[in-house]
Order: sequence, then structure tokens, then C-alpha cells
Amino acid sequence: MSELAYPYEAPASQALFDRAAAVTPGGVNSPVRAFRAVGGTPRFMVSGTGPYLTDADGREYVDLVCSWGPMILGHAHPEVIAAVQEAVARGTSFGTPAEGEVALAEAMVERVAPLEEVRLVSSGTEATMSAIRLARGFTRRTKVVKFAGCYHGHVDSLLAAAGSGVATFALPDTPGVTGAQASDTIVLPYNDLEAVHAAFAAHPGEIACVITEAAPGNMGVVPPLPGFNQGLKDACAANGALFVSDEVMTGFRTSRAGWYGVEGVVPDLMTFGKVMGGGFPAAAFGGRADVMAHLAPAGPVYQAGTLSGNPVATAAGLAQLRLLDDAAYDTVDAVSEQIRGLVTEALSKEGVAHTLQTASNMFSVFFTDRPVTHYEEAKKQESFRFTAFFHSLLANGVYLPPSSFESWFVSTAHDERAVQRIADALPAAARAAAEVSA
Ligand code: PLP
Repeated sequence: MSELAYPYEAPASQALFDRAAAVTPGGVNSPVRAFRAVGGTPRFMVSGTGPYLTDADGREYVDLVCSWGPMILGHAHPEVIAAVQEAVARGTSFGTPAEGEVALAEAMVERVAPLEEVRLVSSGTEATMSAIRLARGFTRRTKVVKFAGCYHGHVDSLLAAAGSGVATFALPDTPGVTGAQASDTIVLPYNDLEAVHAAFAAHPGEIACVITEAAPGNMGVVPPLPGFNQGLKDACAANGALFVSDEVMTGFRTSRAGWYGVEGVVPDLMTFGKVMGGGFPAAAFGGRADVMAHLAPAGPVYQAGTLSGNPVATAAGLAQLRLLDDAAYDTVDAVSEQIRGLVTEALSKEGVAHTLQTASNMFSVFFTDRPVTHYEEAKKQESFRFTAFFHSLLANGVYLPPSSFESWFVSTAHDERAVQRIADALPAAARAAAEVSA
């Protein structure tokens, strides 16, 4: 698509993108932000309030990305901002233990029953990387099972068939990951328990852990089939491996206790990020106390971080978790359902084949009429229709994830006015999706 194909201009964003491209590879600090999957000029945002983002050209958008999940209370929630300001005024980093990190860990442990102990880190990538190291150290085994289409951050050994950003760029894997790192990773099709049993049979005593997104949102939303997560847990238990549930995206979003709260399957280790940081770099891994006891300084498996448990990040996360009561989740669930209904109505009216998939209040649209249960099916959708749909919505003030392999996110701040704006923008977007050709 040429620049002229887009029905609007964003000169201030384009100028910033040009400046960025001169000093940063591809002009962005995380690949999917560059709009490569959909084309056009990435919007440089200058502020966010409630359900809205405002870009450098002064245009306002209803935000359905919510910073890829963290902003579950909307942007600049007054109580979160107040907690951050109070924390900042006391100093931004001590490099010592501080009460805020204890309080955040206590709040997490109180909500998520299998989380007996937790270690704070600064990104979801660090959380999954550390959980894998701990699983290997604990079991004294080397191999890790992951599923195609599941993304666990840019951990070397977990980048194989990693969905989302990697899917967007159609990279089978990435240069820079060594053969040794890749060969210790066994990639299996998602939702396929037979494949998991076969892997355990083929590698007796070698598999340290099975890691899965608790409910995947990085190949679009593809929920686990009934019994899949429990089957993983049982297979791990029967074979002396650990079951690692990655709740970086689902944690404290899909319910008060994340996906664990929805399904009740008890993992050995869990990873968190996004919502628990309130928009700051805070993440965590944790689980069984006997496994966590192997972590330094209690045990021999080394793990550390200069900014781990940062006082500003923990204040933001704690403020956000305290505000996330049952009523907040009811609101997010209801808004999600309302928007899903509007999307289906608009696409159906234009005869656009689509399947809307959900994991609690996370959802995404696949441009295919078949249910998607694994990554190969996700890749068969007509992504070119998403591109037309995306740009029409963007032109009319609705900001979707710039890829058809991503979950959409809503917040408690998405009120009637915001939903009405989406409703007003959808008919033209559905028409654009219907009329476009490959
Ligand atoms: N795990 C999951 C399920 C994720 O969705 C992500 C990021 O989107 C990560 C891990 C990595 O988190 P981060 O981007 O904070 O490193």
C-alpha cells in the first residue's frame, strides 16, 4: 500500500517518526508499534485520559490497546497518579528493600492461591526467563516445551514460533538465537495434548517444564480447550516436570485472580506483568514455595535486578490492584461484551466472514468463518481485511492493535460515550473490510 492509500494524514506523527528513524532501528522501541503489518504512519501519542489517547496531531482516539493490557483502569486514573506522585516525591530508586514491594507481593499472593511466594522483576520477558531458569535449576533438566503462537517475551529460547510481533513479521525464528538455545526448546501445536504426551515419551527425564500462556492472546485470542491446561498440569506431574502458566497478559485482567481465577488449574510457577505494574515496568514470577526456595539468596539459582521492586512502579501497581475489586471486573467484562456485540453486528451486516474469540474480557476478531484453536489456523485468516478495518477505524478515532494477531483490551473507563464512538465508526470499517481485495 502506498502512503496515498490512507484516507487521512498525520504530519506531526510522521515528522516524529522520521526523527525517530534516524536514531532508533525502524523508528520504534518495540517492533509492532511501527505499523509494519498494517502500513501507514504510527501515531505518536502525547497524552492519555480515561479511555482516550491524543496524538501529536491533536487527534483523539478511543483506545482499544490499553498499552497492550496494563491500563485496565484507563489512562491517568487519578488515584494511581496520586500514588505515583506520592512515591516519586520520596525518591525514585533506593537499591534496598522497601515496604512497597512487600505490600505488592502480599496483594498478589492474597489474590492468587497457587502463588505462595513471588519475586519482582521489571518486565514480562525477565519473568519468563527467570521462571525457566528456576525450573531448569530445580529439576536439573534442560528441555522446555512451549506452544506455537504463544509469546513469552523475547527470551532467546522462547522465541521459536512466538506469535504476535514475530507472527506479524513472519520470522520463523530470529538470528542471534544459537542452535543450542533453540534445540532445548520443543515447540508443539497449541491445544494438542497428544503432542505433549508424545514429547514426554520421546524425551524421558529431559523436560524441565511446559510453559504456556494461561489463555493465549498473542496469536489473536485463542482460549484453551476445556481440559487442556489441566491436561498439561497432569502430564507435567506424571513426568517430574513443572507446569509454568504465563499470566503476564491475563493476570489480574481476566479476573481478580487472572486466568487461574477463571479455570482453577494450579500451576507450579506463574509469571505476571502488565496490570500488576499500573503502567510502570513491574513484573513477577512465583508459585510453589519449595520451588521458589531454590532462588538466590535462599537457594543456588541466581536472579537479580537493579530496579526490581522499584518504589514508584510498586506504588502504581499496588494502587491499581487495590482499585480492582469485583465491581471493576464486572464493568470491564460488560464493556467487552458490549463492544464484541457491536463488532459482530457491523461485520455480519456487511457479510464479512469473521470469528470473534474471547478469553474472559480479552477478545479479538479473526477474519475467517472457522473457530481458531491453534496458530496454523490463526495464520489462515484473511489479514488483508483486518488492514482495511484497522485504517477505517483509525481514521474515525478508534485505536486498535496494529496487527490481526493481537488481543484487544478495554478498561473500566470505557463509558457509554466511548462505546458510542466505536459504534459510530464500525459500519464504515466493516464496509471497508467487505470491499477490500487481497
Ligand atoms: N508473556 C506474555 C503472555 C506476554 O503477552 C508478554 C508481552 O506481551 C510477555 C510475556 C513479555 O512481557 P514484556 O513485554 O513486559 O517483556
